[in-house]
Amino acid sequence: MRCELVGLDCPVCAQEIEDALVREPGLEVARVNFSTATLIVPEDKIRDALAIIGRVEPGVRVRCPDHGSEHRDEAQEPKVNPEHVRVVLALAAFIAGWIPRILDALPTHLGSVFFLISFAIAGYPVIITAARNLVARRPFDENVLMTVATGGAVALGEYPEAAAVMVFFSIGEALQATAVRRSRAAVTSLMELRPDTARISDESGERTIPIEEVEPGNVIVVHPGERVPLDGIVVSGETTLDTSALTGESAPRPTAVDDSIHAGSVNGGGVIRVQVTRPHYDSAVARILDMVTEAAEHRAPVERFLTRFARWYTPAVVLGAIALAIIPPLAIPGETFSTWVYRSLILLVISCPCALVVSIPLGYFAGIGLASRNGILVKGADVLDTMTSIKTVIMDKTGTLTDGRLQVSEVDVFNGFSADNVLSLAARAERRSNHPVADAILRRAPALHPGEEGSVEEIPGRGMRLNSSDGRISVGNRRLMTSEGISTESSGSTEVFVGVDGVLAGRISFTENPRKKASDTLAALRKLGIERLVLLTGDSRSPAEKLARALQIGEIHSELLPEDKVRHLESLREEADGPVMFIGDGINDAPVLMAADVGVALGGLGSDAAIEASDLVIMEDRLESIPTALEIAQMTRRRVIQNTVGALSLKALFLTLGALGMTGIWAAVFADVGVTLLAVINSASLLRAEIRH
Ligand code: ADP
Ligand code: MG
Repeated sequence: MRCELVGLDCPVCAQEIEDALVREPGLEVARVNFSTATLIVPEDKIRDALAIIGRVEPGVRVRCPDHGSEHRDEAQEPKVNPEHVRVVLALAAFIAGWIPRILDALPTHLGSVFFLISFAIAGYPVIITAARNLVARRPFDENVLMTVATGGAVALGEYPEAAAVMVFFSIGEALQATAVRRSRAAVTSLMELRPDTARISDESGERTIPIEEVEPGNVIVVHPGERVPLDGIVVSGETTLDTSALTGESAPRPTAVDDSIHAGSVNGGGVIRVQVTRPHYDSAVARILDMVTEAAEHRAPVERFLTRFARWYTPAVVLGAIALAIIPPLAIPGETFSTWVYRSLILLVISCPCALVVSIPLGYFAGIGLASRNGILVKGADVLDTMTSIKTVIMDKTGTLTDGRLQVSEVDVFNGFSADNVLSLAARAERRSNHPVADAILRRAPALHPGEEGSVEEIPGRGMRLNSSDGRISVGNRRLMTSEGISTESSGSTEVFVGVDGVLAGRISFTENPRKKASDTLAALRKLGIERLVLLTGDSRSPAEKLARALQIGEIHSELLPEDKVRHLESLREEADGPVMFIGDGINDAPVLMAADVGVALGGLGSDAAIEASDLVIMEDRLESIPTALEIAQMTRRRVIQNTVGALSLKALFLTLGALGMTGIWAAVFADVGVTLLAVINSASLLRAEIRH
């Protein structure tokens, strides 16, 4: 079950909670996610988990759904955050401390009293946490660092310093917590896409019930301005739907009877009645939300590195600081301990890797959020990372580079069959298929033969076979016909053959159009650094070549079975010596989507199998979203690098200045808090970034 962790402010704490949980038998599967502040635990182990969390991070509260007695009661969110009040009081006392020093009239001792008050107000949570960590034998966290450093300053009589450190630190923490909370809220607002109730309509009239109680087949009513609560098919009424929250597509979509619609879209026009097709937990939006929350669990390698890094880094810094305090005064004649102790305190204070530890996971999370705002579902931070090193993009033809809407252009007949006859035989075999070929035939075929259907079989990359009382009907490419013992001749366009009991009955040819934006999209991909574009298709050579020429794709491989596509992908990966991306429409593509380092499925709202197999799902059937996704990945990467370089260089600068005695502790803290905040803001603002092209 999924619970919320209230007050989870640091990624290292999240990691520590998770580490403690998974050590407990039965809790090995527990996961703690910093970016979404969620805990995932087996339902029957929740009690143990709560006990462990209480021990490891007493400041964190757990809120679980439907666990009335178990969750710790949360008071109503107060208007004024007590944390902010504390910080303001500490700041006021700090300022008051300076008054006697500026106005010579008052005794300096009075100022020192104010500084100590300020130190106490700002510092007590830090000191308490530090004490608790020491008891729990975790001596090396930032709270301990801060306590040691400021305690040292107090001992040296540097009261303003000690107060300044704690005050700036608290201000930084408070602002940082706000920034983290904001960006969490921005992403989780996606999760409010789906209303909890539906207005059901039956003999007894309309009534509002929870969506859990609505069953597929029920008819619900959606009024103008309301969000559609469940997936279904419009049975009466006409309207326009705003699907932007789901797909990123801003143009309203006209919707009429027989159109299928998705939960989460907003009714912008008239009243519609909708027959529900899926239970609430299976609606497209429910699956998207599950995936966005799970996405944050797949952490980027940098993030994983960082949480581990923070663990040995802090002890190393403490040892360094001790060495700095002891060695120079002993080794250099004339140097005093107090100077070097002070310098080592500076080292302690600015060594905290907070800026990185907080801002990097937040950056990836914001990247995932930005993508979903654009109708792109990224299945993990690691996917964003991999995308930045892609140089080879492999594409499927039908439905990916073409608009997927084939038109029957010609029906050639053989052996005494009529065109209508051929079409209706084909339509019978294709009734269960969702391949674009099937779609075109079904649109064109005259009214189907009534009567029993027989057993159908879809052979991926080849076609359909139907055993009916009229004989064995096969519809598909040359390969399929060969296996039926039928020899064929190609017309040179996209085509399928229809055979009955080993006799060729007809050849259906199709016209297909490249997507309107295909050539712009490929240009955008090249601009974003993609060096090699390859077309893989199950279709025959000549239509594939025609399309490749129109779109200026240099490399094509045709007449491939799904497994051949995998083989080609693997050899392309070897040549690229790096990750490769595959883009498909999800029909007959699942094996390649899975094999690719980044598998992209177009039109994710439609196909379950494609969502499962891919790493990136484009909600709406828009090829243009792929450059957008690459751009988001690159932007995320850039921000992570900016934060890392910025934070590390500032630290190096202050470490040097500190060791040379050229800066005070408070200036170092000020810089450190400042850079942490900037990094967090830099990460969080990615969520609102504009996509250029
Ligand atoms: P692609 O998407 O690359 O065109 P597919 O693997 O989907 O390739 O299909 C390859 C070929 O197999 C199609 O061009 C078509 O000739 C044949 N085929 C696949 N599925 C069907 C089907 N349901 N009906 C008829 N032919 C099909
Ligand atoms: Mg295909």
